[in-house]
Amino acid sequence: MIAVAIDGPAGAGKSTIARRAASELGFIYVDTGALYRTIGLACIQKKIDPSNTAAVIHILQDIDISIVFLNGEQHVLLNDKDVSSEIRTEQASMTASVVSAVPEVRQFLLDLQRDFARTNDVIMDGRDIGTVVLPNAQVKIFLTASPETRARRRLLQLEEKGEKLDYETILVDIIKRDYNDSHREAAPLKAADNAIIVDTSDLTLEESIRKVVGIIKEAVI
Ligand code: C5P
Repeated sequence: MIAVAIDGPAGAGKSTIARRAASELGFIYVDTGALYRTIGLACIQKKIDPSNTAAVIHILQDIDISIVFLNGEQHVLLNDKDVSSEIRTEQASMTASVVSAVPEVRQFLLDLQRDFARTNDVIMDGRDIGTVVLPNAQVKIFLTASPETRARRRLLQLEEKGEKLDYETILVDIIKRDYNDSHREAAPLKAADNAIIVDTSDLTLEESIRKVVGIIKEAVI
């Protein structure tokens, strides 16, 4: 099996680039952020403060998460209900960022992620795929971009979905989330030693995709 790990901060373009690269190369694309968002959503639904670690650990007992693919697209089920759209809000994203610092949460999601890579050629994106989840991945890419570029992209994405937020709020959220993700003790966001760093700040989406597909092809095809 071939595994490609794509890690990096929020808004660097990981999911769009990984999805396109996977479809061009015939790999399965696994978005692991969706799993953390699902746990975030469960906290929101149960009105649990995500910084209350004991409460977060407690609700893991009531959570069953599974991934299914419909027409090649990943859907996430929370206790058998498809929550793929509900997890795409800023609130779910911020909550995910807080609960993802809890080691028990990361452990809870580890096997689910690894099982996919055992039986499929995957491009998996996240924060710790190259460092923790799939340390033996044949290709590791760390995708990044400046916080300002990422905030502008996020704003456009949210606008397309009808969510109204201003640029400053998004920029502050991104900086806060970067800080949370890279300063937590459990699996912090950092490039694996042997990752190839790709900065997409000055690249168009197409250029970024070409670059990533080129790196993967050169390494494994
Ligand atoms: O990638 P996405 O923005 O959907 O991820 C939501 C949050 O989930 C991130 O801010 C991060 O805290 C967490 N996450 C993580 N490890 C991953 C994927 C996401 O900690 N592999």
